[in-house]
Amino acid sequence: MKKEMKLVEDYQKDLTLIGQANALLSWDEETYMPEKGVESRSEQTALLSGIAHDKVISNELFNALRKLRISKDLKGKEKLMVDKLYKDVVKARKVPKEFVKEFSKTVALAGPKWREARRKKDFKIFAPHLQKIVELSKKQIGYNRLPGHPYNSLLDDYEEGMTAEKLKPVFADLKKELVSLLKKIEGSEKYKKQKLVLMKKEFDGKILEGFVYDVCERMGLKKEFSRVDLTEHPFTTKIGVGDVRITTNYRENPMFAFLSTVHEAGHALYELGLPKKDEYNVLGDAPSLGIHESQSRFWENMIARGKPFWKYYYPRFKKNFKLSGDFDEWYKEVNFVHPDKIRVEADEVHYCLHIILRFEIELGLIEGSIKVKDLPKIWNSKMKELFGVVPKDDVEGCLQDVHWSMGSFGYFPTYAIGTIYSAQLYSQLIKEHPHIEEQIGKGKFDKIREWLNENVHKHGSYYLADDIIKKVCGEGLNPKVYVDYLNEKYGKIYGFD
Ligand code: MG
Repeated sequence: MKKEMKLVEDYQKDLTLIGQANALLSWDEETYMPEKGVESRSEQTALLSGIAHDKVISNELFNALRKLRISKDLKGKEKLMVDKLYKDVVKARKVPKEFVKEFSKTVALAGPKWREARRKKDFKIFAPHLQKIVELSKKQIGYNRLPGHPYNSLLDDYEEGMTAEKLKPVFADLKKELVSLLKKIEGSEKYKKQKLVLMKKEFDGKILEGFVYDVCERMGLKKEFSRVDLTEHPFTTKIGVGDVRITTNYRENPMFAFLSTVHEAGHALYELGLPKKDEYNVLGDAPSLGIHESQSRFWENMIARGKPFWKYYYPRFKKNFKLSGDFDEWYKEVNFVHPDKIRVEADEVHYCLHIILRFEIELGLIEGSIKVKDLPKIWNSKMKELFGVVPKDDVEGCLQDVHWSMGSFGYFPTYAIGTIYSAQLYSQLIKEHPHIEEQIGKGKFDKIREWLNENVHKHGSYYLADDIIKKVCGEGLNPKVYVDYLNEKYGKIYGFD
């Protein structure tokens, strides 16, 4: 079996390297590539993706995996790795090549149409493309049908082991709790009088950039193995084991760049903390997007929207940006609750409602109970129901996210899953290290990074995401921990605890 194992390892190494080369091409496209480079760039990435796909579905790899699986001497790590890769391979082999081509062609055409629809504020431009993507997604489900709801096949690509059946009650509960918390917040005197003052000041870009680098450094994202660049939408990408890159974006609200950098740095630390010994095999990856997002949300919400964090940073912000407000005012503005129509700018209380809205719509589109042409109407009525506001146009509404134009159905729930996990992790961290907030208040985050590393990062894909959370926190996905955290925090801020 030695020969087969070597072959399987070589394949995985090639696939990892091709993936990393592709990641570098995409990173360059988003950051520095001149506009006219787009045509050859898309051919370059398509070529690499094609080579990778051919490798995944090759008979040579498939046969080696099959031999390994029937042999009895496979155990421990090797067995885990072979089983995991086999699952991916079987999945990929069931999808006909013509479908893969049609899907990528459809998505390539849909992207520019989505952008044009946004520019012209006209959903109708994008609708026929979305229609095609929904049809193809349904077809895709048919190739790898999982038990239960058809949506499960899509969800499983991003959150292995999670199902619509498990998520529906979790999200239904969460929705009820969040709506009731919002009622309390909106009913408070403080809410009625609230206004952003400090955030409206002019924040010097150079100084802000200095803070962005400072927080990355403090979190442990050193320049030797990372970069921060500018893009329209912030993201994280891994180019190699010692090369993880993040991007940021400076917007009107100064907190956007700062907090989104903390968020992306959380993703980057996870990538850097994954097991090095598995650098070139499937066990060295994150087991799901939800757990990836738990790391970014952990740093963004639990740390960087928290009181101890600002005990350290606010005096420095105050001095450097010449702010006149006191600590409590600043802390309240950082955690300003208001019904923002844009998901990526949402506060902690509204954020998961944005996700639940998208989850309900995705289920409807897949089940056929929602028609693409009715999307703006349905989106707006759900916004009215959950947020009490209606988008002024589709750019603020159903055209705001890029995911559907990329054919990524089943992706959105992972944001809420990660958000819930992050609260569970923080609650466990405090149990194990009751004095950690003193460290945070001094701008020291090493212990936290080490704890996350030990409890989450180093497991790679040796366990499913929910099993990692169970190992650390004693239970899997539990929205109650997140809801309790929100109630306590916002009860204090809005004065109804
Ligand atoms: Mg993220």
